[in-house]
Amino acid sequence: MSRYLIVGGVAGGASAAARLRRLDERAEITVYERGGFMSYANCGLPYHIGGVIRERNALFVQNASAFKKRFNVDVFVGHEVIEIDRVKKSMSVRDIASEKMIADTYDKLILSPGAAPIRPPIPGIDAKGIFTLRNVADTDAIVAYAAEKKISRALVVGAGFIGVEMAENLHARGASIAIVEMLDQVLPPFDRDMAVLVHEHIRAKGVALHLGVSVTSFRGDASGVTAVLSDGKELTADMVILSIGVAPDTAIAKAAGLDCGERNAILVNEYLQTSDASIYAVGDAIAFCHPIFGKAMPTYLAGPANKQARIAADNIVLGNKKKYPGSIGTAVVKVFDSTAALTGASEKMLVKEKIPCRSWIVHPASHASYYPAAAPMSLKIVFSPEGKILGAQAVGGDGVDKRIDVIAAYMKMGGSVRDLAEFEQAYAPPYSSAKDPVNFAGFVAENIIDGVMKDMSYDELRALPKDAYVLVDVRTSAECARGMLDGAVNIPVDDMRSRIGDVPKGKKIVTYCAVGLRSYIAARILMQNGFDAYDLKGGYRTCDALRRG
Ligand code: FAD
Repeated sequence: MSRYLIVGGVAGGASAAARLRRLDERAEITVYERGGFMSYANCGLPYHIGGVIRERNALFVQNASAFKKRFNVDVFVGHEVIEIDRVKKSMSVRDIASEKMIADTYDKLILSPGAAPIRPPIPGIDAKGIFTLRNVADTDAIVAYAAEKKISRALVVGAGFIGVEMAENLHARGASIAIVEMLDQVLPPFDRDMAVLVHEHIRAKGVALHLGVSVTSFRGDASGVTAVLSDGKELTADMVILSIGVAPDTAIAKAAGLDCGERNAILVNEYLQTSDASIYAVGDAIAFCHPIFGKAMPTYLAGPANKQARIAADNIVLGNKKKYPGSIGTAVVKVFDSTAALTGASEKMLVKEKIPCRSWIVHPASHASYYPAAAPMSLKIVFSPEGKILGAQAVGGDGVDKRIDVIAAYMKMGGSVRDLAEFEQAYAPPYSSAKDPVNFAGFVAENIIDGVMKDMSYDELRALPKDAYVLVDVRTSAECARGMLDGAVNIPVDDMRSRIGDVPKGKKIVTYCAVGLRSYIAARILMQNGFDAYDLKGGYRTCDALRRG
């Protein structure tokens, strides 16, 4: 009879335990969980704070006694594993309530200890009213504090996924919200040319965005918590949510001498085995070779944690047969009434890693625009010069998640932008268009790699000497009257052939329209008449958002 121990009883740990039992009815399986609860919905915590998930109980997927009954697995909550002895294959466990120490032994061990919020040592960080959010205890503390203090002002420090979700949910509780983010954009995994669309939406909700500044200190007093920013400004709030990132919670793994990488994430092989063959590790605590970047990186997402848990359990019981292919970081976040989703690599990461790439942004509608309630969407596709899909990002309303999921599926199969052009969708006007947004992304990318179209980004345009190009707005004069990019001249697309004599030769001609369709037509006319014509990436929609930041 085998004895399997698991450290961590939430996403990865509970999944692994259940799978181990389904494969091995006779094994002894024990889970140790430091917190007070097992198998709860960490992803739902912000929504309970905001009152969207009203019942606290709805957060709990399983409890120890139900899990024991169904899976015959012993789960000890409130028990912290404090040491692993790899030679003796044993662990020391502390019962947090009684302070009693327990020793336990294993044949195979699975580590799924997750990641903990980062709390930098800035002055005043321990002031009352400053919270991080990782688990049910944090959630209870935030809910109780918010109710007791009847908070009307909240400050969110860090605009990653959890920060943005907390901003929305504290806003839903009636608090005015300020967000402080060190970078010049929210949602760091996204490229800035997509994040600026999220800025528009967040600001439209009355949230104050402080970008490009950090908190240098906190001060707590009777009026609340005051954050002093790097630009000298001070913001006072009743409550602060610190959401500046997480780091693998791997002190015991490190102390046990397991190989660890960046930020002490546990290094695992393709079978999810650590540097000790008897110990497997999964979830937020591990670093695994990224399929695009080719180097070990952590992924802090629930989907990969659950899937890794299944693979690790299979390999433990059935022998190392299943290989983990790696995560491409497919993720989605609700931002008030909008959705932002992404998969694969961002353009900025690829540039940083010196991986050649191209990109384009389309702005199609979620479904046929003549059918009611079509929602605008912006979809960015990132690809290699040969056309391999490297990433995609989308911001908008209905259908954003669907398009990113489709592209993620193609990416996982090694797909190219030509596959996206051919993607066959289920179409009727309420759901899509005869040419889906995914098709449009594929069409444009194909045009770029085939040289049918030459693209230029807003940053590339601004880097050009003023006398090297002519910027042509090909929208109607009525549209132009509502705003144009600096220095542009207006030649509506339908007048392009008759006014082609107005366009100077010997310079780059950069065309733009609202979303990039008419400017493409204009650029094609110009190219076929011998001009060095470029289409401005994302059109006025993207460039206007970029210049407003
Ligand atoms: P966890 O699920 O965090 O479980 C680790 C557990 O190990 C913890 O409960 C911890 O107490 C325990 N532990 C650690 N050390 C020890 C020890 N020494 N002894 C005993 N127990 C120990 N991901 C998404 O994909 N989508 C989302 O929408 C999303 N939303 C999120 C919202 C919030 C507020 C949070 C905090 C996370 C969210 N995530 C989301 C991330 C997702 O929850 C994690 O990726 C996932 O839970 C990782 O699973 P895990 O098993 O590695 O870690």
